[in-house]
Amino acid sequence: MNRIYDVAIIGAGVSGAAIARKLSRYRIQTVLLEKEADVSFGTSKANSGIVHGGFHHNVKYLKTRMEVLGASLFDQLQRELGFPFRRCGIIVAAMHLDEMRVVEHLYRQGVENGAPGIELCSRDRMLLLEPKLSTEVVGGLYAPSGGIIEPYRFVFSLVENAKKNGVTLETCFKAASARRVPASDSGADAQLWEITAADGRTVRARYVVNAAGLQADAVSALFGAEEFSITARKGEYFLLDRLAAGCPSRVVFPVPSSVSKGMLVIPTVEGTTLIGPTADMVPDKGDLATTAENLARITASARMLIPSVSERDVITSFAGLRPVLEEDFYIDMSKKVPCFVQVAGIQSPGLTSSPAIAEYVKDLLLKDGLELSENPEFEPYLAPPVHVRNLPPEERAVLVSQNPAYGNIVCRCEEISEAEIVEAIRHGHTTLDGIKFYTRAQMGRCQGGFCSYKIMKLIMRETGMSAEEITKRGGSSRVLEGEL
Ligand SMILES: Cc1cc2nc3c(=O)[nH]c(=O)nc-3n(C[C@H](O)[C@H](O)[C@H](O)COP(=O)(O)OP(=O)(O)OC[C@H]3O[C@@H](n4cnc5c(N)ncnc54)[C@H](O)[C@@H]3O)c2cc1C
Repeated sequence: MNRIYDVAIIGAGVSGAAIARKLSRYRIQTVLLEKEADVSFGTSKANSGIVHGGFHHNVKYLKTRMEVLGASLFDQLQRELGFPFRRCGIIVAAMHLDEMRVVEHLYRQGVENGAPGIELCSRDRMLLLEPKLSTEVVGGLYAPSGGIIEPYRFVFSLVENAKKNGVTLETCFKAASARRVPASDSGADAQLWEITAADGRTVRARYVVNAAGLQADAVSALFGAEEFSITARKGEYFLLDRLAAGCPSRVVFPVPSSVSKGMLVIPTVEGTTLIGPTADMVPDKGDLATTAENLARITASARMLIPSVSERDVITSFAGLRPVLEEDFYIDMSKKVPCFVQVAGIQSPGLTSSPAIAEYVKDLLLKDGLELSENPEFEPYLAPPVHVRNLPPEERAVLVSQNPAYGNIVCRCEEISEAEIVEAIRHGHTTLDGIKFYTRAQMGRCQGGFCSYKIMKLIMRETGMSAEEITKRGGSSRVLEGEL
């Protein structure tokens, strides 16, 4: 007989992960179901990684209220979970005087939304805040509370902590059908959802949360819930090397248009620089291609803000797909079917909003009758993973004397040791991408050219998998055939 859960969450992106972690504070049984081989393999892995400053949207939208509350919760979350996050501040740079009207509007909006410390800036103030800005700048906006985060590491830490507090994670579980079944053979009235995966596994739960990102429309249909359509708006990015001259100290936005926040220059927490994203509707929800044409477009745009950005510093590119529903998030109990929560249309600022989304969903469940009593044994803290690169030589030497695998550097670009990769594998990340997102190995200048095969050997040693079984990101993304 399958275990019966109180809540089954479909989708382990940042929304599902934050909800799972929130629910793990209570004495209930929760399961997180993810169709991919690892968590954070959907939109949550490929975005700007910005904790937004609370001024881009009007307070009439739920997403704005979620953004402001969510952003305020990150310091506490970082103390508990130890993911990479820094409040470096956000600036919006106006390059023409007529753009200042929009900047003033954003400023007033930010004040109304309660964005902390927001400031309208003169040209001199802007150049002081960000000396790499183009001298063409005429003024702008500064939101000191804005920040940067490694989005996948945030999701990994949420899920790891949720698991530590009793949440079950099922990966490679693609919810394929659902039906209502009696809660017991006794013929009592109570009913449950039974969810069947594409491979035949089943899970039973009293409540279901649909946090399936781009597939939230399809998942809603599986349950006979509301009909809506999620479309994909693609954002392409290019990543600049850690040594790039064009790396600013704050997130630099252009003045936004009515449809997009524009193409930005973003310092990452790990010292590289992102430029992008584009914002183009695409018919295919799997279209993650990047093009040379967009590289030229993005670079030109980025150079208007920071002239030292150079195409020569590009080390890789990637794309993410915004799950677009309408203008706002759709987070509510289904009005069509019982015990079903919709968390759909979570486009930007979904990452920033995720801690607030989790709170909101918890309240919806409580209001609907789910009993939530605090778990006195809830453990909010995670020991942050060790990164030898960040340690002073003396500490490194001590660590290596305790475990020589910390002295064996596998990824030379990012200085990631064998011990760090083994830790990732032991935490359940057994694809090349999972290990990349957990440790940063393969993320440097050579993009895994030198270390991928070493990482594969470590996966084989630690898991007993064969070379043929190792994949880049699960499914059919096998890396090679034959022996290593
Ligand atoms: C280009 C771009 C830039 C962005 N920049 C920012 C930013 O700087 N700051 C910010 O706050 N937000 C940003 N966002 C928005 C943010 O990335 C998203 O709002 C957030 O990642 C959505 O998370 P999610 O968990 O709702 O969806 P996802 O991360 O897509 O997770 C949904 C999960 O559901 C799984 N799934 C789907 N169907 C099934 C099924 N049948 N069974 C089981 N699992 C299933 C998927 O595999 C996936 O893992 C950006 C988005 C994009 C695309």
